[in-house]
Amino acid sequence: MTARDWFLKAQTGGWAIGAFNADNLEILKAICLAAKNKKSPVMVEFSPGEVDYFGLRNIVDLVKNAREEYRIPILLNLDHGRKVEDCLAAVNMGSSTSSGSSSFDLIHFDGSDSELEENIHNTKKVVEAAHTKGLLVEGEIDKIPGASEIHDQDLDSELVKKSYTDPQKAAKFVSETGIDIFAAFFGNVHGTFPNQPDLDFDLLARIRKSLPDTFLSLHGGSGIPADQVKQAIEVGKIVKVNVNTELRQAFRDALTEKLGEKPNEYAMYKVMPDVILSVAAVVESKIDIFGSAGRV
Ligand SMILES: [Zn+2]
Repeated sequence: MTARDWFLKAQTGGWAIGAFNADNLEILKAICLAAKNKKSPVMVEFSPGEVDYFGLRNIVDLVKNAREEYRIPILLNLDHGRKVEDCLAAVNMGSSTSSGSSSFDLIHFDGSDSELEENIHNTKKVVEAAHTKGLLVEGEIDKIPGASEIHDQDLDSELVKKSYTDPQKAAKFVSETGIDIFAAFFGNVHGTFPNQPDLDFDLLARIRKSLPDTFLSLHGGSGIPADQVKQAIEVGKIVKVNVNTELRQAFRDALTEKLGEKPNEYAMYKVMPDVILSVAAVVESKIDIFGSAGRV
């Protein structure tokens, strides 16, 4: 099944696929292990910083190997690609077919730093290249604030509300670019904040209505209460929920604890299995919230 098939299946069934960032090899293993345990399709994704760290070719090879090893559907996404050339480099790593993908399945081009017309122009370039290879493209017009970290400063919620998605603008963007997935912004922020905003479900319903033929994603899946995530999947028919911060947090906390327990251990591969299990537990709990368990 292609990424489109999986998204259609999720949309029809009222559940979503978790898109989990792999900050390092152990988190990648944790994501695959959790998905296998839960018999769930899963998306692994790499932000520009993570791509720089791993290298594009290593990412493709690691995911290809993981698909064979774990025997579950593992979709691969370039997360928040900010340069057209970076997106094209990922597109050119291979193609997606009905018998499965040989590399990337989805390219998220994030042109939200640019004015709308420039964003449309650049997104179209990515869409043309990606669609030729059978890959899907995710687009974004509203800068979803925050980084994938634990913020200790409050968010200026009133200021942030001003940049929530305008459904009409979103419809223009989608019709002019031909993107497959739209990254909607309705109170979801990257990372966690002391004053985490509530999701705006009225706005989400209007976005859904204005984009009847487009898949929707929910970025900033960390720190949003489970009931709000479930409601968003229901109201917005969201098919992809991005999670990064909570995995990084689980990794770091578990690693710190393990190193404290074993001050004389220098072989890191002996420390990592327990760390992987800790991260996998977080991924499994997200898979339960998203409703994707048992769908394979
Ligand atoms: Zn994001």
